[in-house]
Amino acid sequence: MSTPLSHQPVPYQEITEPYYAVEVARTHSLDQAYGDDYVLICTCPRCGAALDIELFDPVYKAASTSAPPNPNPTGAREVPVSCVCRSEHDGRPEGRTGCGAYWPLELS
Ligand SMILES: [Zn+2]
Ligand SMILES: [Zn+2]
Repeated sequence: MSTPLSHQPVPYQEITEPYYAVEVARTHSLDQAYGDDYVLICTCPRCGAALDIELFDPVYKAASTSAPPNPNPTGAREVPVSCVCRSEHDGRPEGRTGCGAYWPLELS
């Protein structure tokens, strides 16, 4: 199944839906860039933008060194990811990127 690359000019809204994480997990790819830095390549489940999201070391380390909110027997870690698309979204606060969508990303 291919995801259409058309961008939806939805109004900016900070929102998450359970299906975002599911949708992204089905279609994303995760590249290990340098050391503990990762780049998540995916399509925003809300606005449809093609995204390259850098998961920097501090984020990743914070996720792995602080006590996990939900200890997971598989050792998977979750980091919060949000849309960083640069297209227009009505009502977006100055200096922000994205459409406001965010979701948890599972790093195994
Ligand atoms: Zn967008
Ligand atoms: Zn988006």
